[in-house]
Amino acid sequence: MVTVKPATKTQGQQQKKRGETAYDLIIVGAGLAGLTCALYAAQKKMRVALVEAQLPGGKLLRETHCVLPGFSGKGFLLVSQILDQLKAFPLLEQIQGQATQLHAVQPLYTCTLDDGHILHGRALVLAIGALKKSPLLQGLVALTEEGYVVAGEDTQTSVPGVYAIGDVREKPLRHLLSTAADGALAGLRIAEYLR
Ligand SMILES: Cc1cc2nc3c(=O)[nH]c(=O)nc-3n(C[C@H](O)[C@H](O)[C@H](O)COP(=O)(O)OP(=O)(O)OC[C@H]3O[C@@H](n4cnc5c(N)ncnc54)[C@H](O)[C@@H]3O)c2cc1C
Repeated sequence: MVTVKPATKTQGQQQKKRGETAYDLIIVGAGLAGLTCALYAAQKKMRVALVEAQLPGGKLLRETHCVLPGFSGKGFLLVSQILDQLKAFPLLEQIQGQATQLHAVQPLYTCTLDDGHILHGRALVLAIGALKKSPLLQGLVALTEEGYVVAGEDTQTSVPGVYAIGDVREKPLRHLLSTAADGALAGLRIAEYLR
C-alpha cells in the first residue's frame, strides 16, 4: 500500500540549523499547486524551499475527489507519485513547518516559520489554498474583497516576484486542473524572472 509520509524538517538534502537559509524560491503550501510549482521550478534547477504545515497534498488528502478527467485514482496516489518525482531534485527541500510571517521587499523575500527559522528567497509563491482573509496575506499583496489574492492567469500578484497559485488566487473555477496549471506556469515564469 502506498502511504504519504510527512516531510521531515531536513528531508533529503542538507541539515539545517535553526537560523537563516537562502533559496531561489520559497513556496508556502504543498497542496497540488505548491507540489506542481516545486516540480517545475526544480526542473529549472532552482534551489527551492517547499514549506508545508501539515502533510504534503493539501485537499487531495482531505477531500473526496472525482480527481481528474480520465484519472479515477485516489488523490493520495497522485500526491505520492508527485513526491516520488520530487526525489530526483537535490536542490529541492521539503520543510515541515507553518509559515507565520511573510515579507516581500523586492528583491528579497522572507518567510518566518513557527520554530523561528527564517527562509530568504529571490521569489515567493503563495500556495496556501482557499484560506480567505489569512493574516499571512494581509498587507503583503493586493486582495479581493473576499480575501483571495489578486493575480491574473500568469499568477503574478501586485508585488513583483510574488506569485499566487491554486485556490488562494482569485479565479472563476477552483479545480485540480487549474490548480496544476497555475503551479506549472508559475514555475516557468519564475525561472524567467530570476534569469
Ligand atoms: C470537498 C471538495 C471536493 C473537491 N472535489 C474536486 C474534484 O472532484 N475535482 C477537482 O478537480 N477539484 C476538486 N476540488 C477542488 C480541489 O481540491 C482544489 O482546487 C485543489 O486541491 C486546491 O489545491 P491548492 O494546492 O491550491 O490548495 P490546498 O490543497 O488547500 O493546499 C494548501 C496547502 O497549504 C498548506 N498551508 C496553508 N497555510 C500554510 C502555512 N501558513 N504554512 C505552511 N503551509 C500552509 C496547507 O496545509 C495545505 O496543505 C474539491 C474541493 C473540495 C473542498
